[in-house]
Amino acid sequence: MKTIDTIYIDGAFVTPHGTELFDLHNPATGRVIGQVQLGDEIDTRAAIAAAKRAFPAFSRSSRQERIALLNRLADAVQARSAELTEAVIEEYGAPISRAEWMSDYAVGGFRLAAQTLETYEFTRRIGSAKVTMEPLGVVGLITPWNANAGFICNKLAMVIASGSTAVIKPSEMSAIQTQIVTEALHEAGVPAGVFNIVTGRGEVVGAEISAHRDIAKVSFTGSTATGRAILRAGAETMKRVTLELGGKSPMVILDDADFAEAVPFALMAGFMNSGQACIAGTRILVPRARLAEFEAAIKAAVAEVRSGAPRDPETAIGPMVSQRQWDRVQSYIRKGSEEGATLLIGGEGRPEETKDGWFVRPTVFTDVRNDMTIARDEIFGPVLSIIPYGTESDAIAIANDTDYGLHAYVAGSDPARAQAVADQLVAGRVVINGAPMEPMAPFGGFKQSGIGRENGVFGLEAYLEPKAVMG
Ligand code: NAD
Repeated sequence: MKTIDTIYIDGAFVTPHGTELFDLHNPATGRVIGQVQLGDEIDTRAAIAAAKRAFPAFSRSSRQERIALLNRLADAVQARSAELTEAVIEEYGAPISRAEWMSDYAVGGFRLAAQTLETYEFTRRIGSAKVTMEPLGVVGLITPWNANAGFICNKLAMVIASGSTAVIKPSEMSAIQTQIVTEALHEAGVPAGVFNIVTGRGEVVGAEISAHRDIAKVSFTGSTATGRAILRAGAETMKRVTLELGGKSPMVILDDADFAEAVPFALMAGFMNSGQACIAGTRILVPRARLAEFEAAIKAAVAEVRSGAPRDPETAIGPMVSQRQWDRVQSYIRKGSEEGATLLIGGEGRPEETKDGWFVRPTVFTDVRNDMTIARDEIFGPVLSIIPYGTESDAIAIANDTDYGLHAYVAGSDPARAQAVADQLVAGRVVINGAPMEPMAPFGGFKQSGIGRENGVFGLEAYLEPKAVMG
């Protein structure tokens, strides 16, 4: 049993004023593995005050000082990589390869921010004006459980690059990862108050951050419902926001696609992070003329996908993070059948070889209509919907017929045609035929998938405000 009973304020590990103890679980067994003592509003206010005190000096730090700090932070987190990977497996249930990727992602955030800072022009002339890009002040960072350490590091990296200071509210379900990251960041020698971390409940610590007048901006990754609550709470004090929310991303299979490549691409996009990914490609649009062929190919491929113990290197899908998430996924599988979709493979219950733990069966429905609940709602589990279409323009219309617009995928043999389809999809990012991600490109969503962009220059500017001086 691990006990985490400190939060991090003003450069020191301190006992929270809050007294609530929150259970931490191993999703692969369902058992309690530790407890975290949660911070409260008073802790949050102390953290905000520390960040406010640190801002004037830190905002005047030089580009070279911040680059050096970002590189030290990357090294410090990298030094704890193996431990962080273990924590991600134990506390979140990610399969080994994903857990390793998540640790690398946490380190990479600092390196990419340092790289962005190298060449960024903070001052430019526009006509007679000198325009400088100014840091915002104290920024609130709120992260979800599906990549907690990575989001803490990525968001903090850009705050530091901009010259602002931060109060971080990590997911309360990811306290072991948070503890390792906090220790690493502390060891890197960040000036006191530049970052503060208060683990606590969303409706307590998150709500205080979202409403506090000394918070200039909130950067949030999580559900669309919580994003709305943050936007409402921040309206009173005109907070800037970056909201990275949910998705229901289309995977458009064109009629010239080679299914030997398109099917693995669809499963990679659909089942990544055990299906608990905001960018998961969960609506697979398949030309009706090739539907039976696609169904046979994906059914055979899913039968080989192992959903089970995260430490088994053969495992592609780990358990859901919590009982609540498991119940949610089960209810959507039930709903899919009730609304008349055809279950192609998978279904309710656990995979045969698993007994306890929050494991789910990789599931694919076919004959799904885009107005069915499983095609509208973000399920956040390994449940995919095949939606047949007639013409290419039908496919584009169906792909765009969603409240979300975070991501999209296109599979096809003719690059020019796939590009033309990608150009018509309303999404913050489109990946064609499994192309690698570009980490410096903007990341974020259209419509109810969010507001603003992260990463690279777009991500840095999200923490800066232009100021024009004339004369
Ligand atoms: P969530 O919205 O419930 O929680 C996210 C964070 O917000 C947690 O730290 C939580 O404590 C906090 N929170 C909850 N209520 C709050 C409130 N009223 N005010 C302020 N903060 C509050 O989401 P989750 O269940 O942790 O994560 C899953 C969701 O996150 C999914 O919907 C997924 O799509 C989304 N997500 C999006 C991205 C992205 O980049 N777009 C990435 C990962 C997850």
